[in-house]
Amino acid sequence: MTSSSSPLPATADVVIIGGGVMGCAIQYHLAQLGVPNTVVLERSVLAAGSTGRSQAICRMHYSNPVTTELAWQSLQVFSDFDARVGGQSGFVGTGYLVVVEDVDAAGLERNVAMQQELGVPASLISADDLARLAPSIRLYDDERAAWEPLSGYANPYLVTTSYAQRSREAGAQIALRTSASAIELDGERVQAVTTTNGDRIAAGTVIVAAGPWSKPLLAGVGVNVPLIPVRHQVATVARPVERVPEHPTVGDISQSFSFRPDGSAFTMMGFGDDPETPNPDDYPEGVDPSDATSALHRLGRRVPGLADSYYRGGWSGLFTTTPDWHPILDAIPGITGLYCAIGFSGHGFKLSPAIAKAIAELIVENRPRDIDLTPLRYARFAENDLLQSSYRYRVLA
Ligand SMILES: Cc1cc2nc3c(=O)[nH]c(=O)nc-3n(C[C@H](O)[C@H](O)[C@H](O)COP(=O)(O)OP(=O)(O)OC[C@H]3O[C@@H](n4cnc5c(N)ncnc54)[C@H](O)[C@@H]3O)c2cc1C
Repeated sequence: MTSSSSPLPATADVVIIGGGVMGCAIQYHLAQLGVPNTVVLERSVLAAGSTGRSQAICRMHYSNPVTTELAWQSLQVFSDFDARVGGQSGFVGTGYLVVVEDVDAAGLERNVAMQQELGVPASLISADDLARLAPSIRLYDDERAAWEPLSGYANPYLVTTSYAQRSREAGAQIALRTSASAIELDGERVQAVTTTNGDRIAAGTVIVAAGPWSKPLLAGVGVNVPLIPVRHQVATVARPVERVPEHPTVGDISQSFSFRPDGSAFTMMGFGDDPETPNPDDYPEGVDPSDATSALHRLGRRVPGLADSYYRGGWSGLFTTTPDWHPILDAIPGITGLYCAIGFSGHGFKLSPAIAKAIAELIVENRPRDIDLTPLRYARFAENDLLQSSYRYRVLA
């Protein structure tokens, strides 16, 4: 990989801004399509942003077909990563349980029916089914559940660096500790990216995949994307394995949090979307003790055997949200050669293989082969044609 001290090329076919899972996976797919003359610019190190802080839960429960399909295509890549990409994804199949209150039962039924129409293995389950599938989990009388047998979690660092390694082998370049400062236009066409080190790479195609930092980059060329960062916390507890040897990954919509196993002896919880809008360059990166205590209480209510687990530590990261909590995957209208893969709203990791493939195809072949990204177009905000969620806890569907 190119480091900040290595010279950057003067020209490239494509410059990708951001070395998270999206930027690296897009670069890989461009190389697969015969476009290896590309550069990823990463201001820090690979996966330094949301990717490295992700819980990396891979489930397919969504309220709309396009993200369900992206999640399903991606799951098939994560679970067969070495054969399909090369390298490790760290995927662990745990099964995925969605729990909602009765008030959300219609949404749950609708989502599962839609999944089944798309061929996704998913079903509504009863309390008796759950007792067989996951005896450690408690379902209350006013709750309903659905089950995905193939879902689980992966390792976001391994996935990102595996894509990067495969791209590098194909001849692509990755410049670490190299921050893009501006996108240069020639009239209404992209012509170059400049860096804070004073370098300039001429390129006719630029992809912005810079997480919450995408907003100022795009504002520099007059594009105002509706991105708002939201702080989200993750905490890990030691699991008393003699009582709870295993449990599935759970999207606990009833209690507005999620949890998954973390290896064989820990459980990882995600919780606490902070109402304050954080500064991506300066926000509290630790865990608020009161929020961790509240999450542990919810965990104990859902898995009574984990009620007195002890807290091992945690961190915070940023969701880059859009008004409908779904990404913007598009060519930017009015600027030839400018694309964005942004606004993943806390659930982009699980979609990354399919999104990256679709964006690479959009660039090289003018349209994705296996998915129609129209519902995720940039213009949907101006057209007031937003995606709808079945639930109030939007990150979970
Ligand atoms: C706490 C947490 C838990 C999550 N849990 C899940 C989950 O369970 N399942 C799931 O699917 N998703 C989850 N997500 C969301 C998922 O992690 C993200 O959607 C995904 O990682 C986004 O990847 P990205 O490459 O777009 O962004 P990022 O990983 O943020 O990458 C953007 C990169 O751009 C770089 N950059 C920024 N500005 C510049 C610049 N000017 N020049 C060069 N480089 C620049 C940054 O350093 C960064 O590395 C979670 C996120 C968080 C924060």
